Amino acid sequence: SAHEDWARSDAYHNSFLLAPDDALTFAKANSDKHGLRDIAVSAAQGKYLSLLVRSIGAKRVLEVGTLGGYSTIWMGRALPEDGELITLELNEKHVQVARENIAHAGLADKVKVVQGVAAESLAKMAADKPFDFVFIDADKPNNLTYLLEAKRLTRKGAVIIIDNVVRRGKVADLAYTDANCEGIRRLLTHLKTDREVEATTISTVGEKGWDGFMYVLKP
Ligand code: SAM
Repeated sequence: SAHEDWARSDAYHNSFLLAPDDALTFAKANSDKHGLRDIAVSAAQGKYLSLLVRSIGAKRVLEVGTLGGYSTIWMGRALPEDGELITLELNEKHVQVARENIAHAGLADKVKVVQGVAAESLAKMAADKPFDFVFIDADKPNNLTYLLEAKRLTRKGAVIIIDNVVRRGKVADLAYTDANCEGIRRLLTHLKTDREVEATTISTVGEKGWDGFMYVLKP
């Protein structure tokens, strides 16, 4: 099937480009053990995020949607010694598992997991210590709210990545009117006239199926 081809292709490329990794393996196994859903980014996507963080020399990273901290660990590792990552998560069990996984990865000093409704946590944050990089990967209906908060909380030149904006092409098929697709459509409609950012969607296929990242630059 197409999905098997995509998964095999990811595995093949990963076998050259990604080394086996104890902290990430632990995070996956510990998340499974606690019954967390397998909806983290793929390994290749996690490395992609870490390379983006390093490419722009980000010191302060904000994540919306932690789950078990898998993407958090990838990005946290990309930070310099004095870097900091703040990640927002609603579910208390996810927060607890993420904290275990992050500590096991040796990142407890750099990473702060904030429990609560992300929109409320964001609204309480001041823009005095702006972020360089933001990864948005929580409840999709609130993506526009998260983008607007990310704009407020970032420096000029910041990069904002939003995951799952393609959804097997369903976002582009108006017959699908579920809250996730509608959330992405509101985001797109906003971006059409927002002159303060520049964005593009890159579709991805791989072990996670067909989806896409949106890359947003705040010039
Ligand atoms: N970024 C993670 C990774 O790749 O490893 C995956 C995040 S998962 C796709 C989405 C997470 O967002 C879930 O853990 C869910 O509990 C959380 N979430 C959903 N609604 C939320 C909200 N309103 N505020 C904060 N977190 C929320």
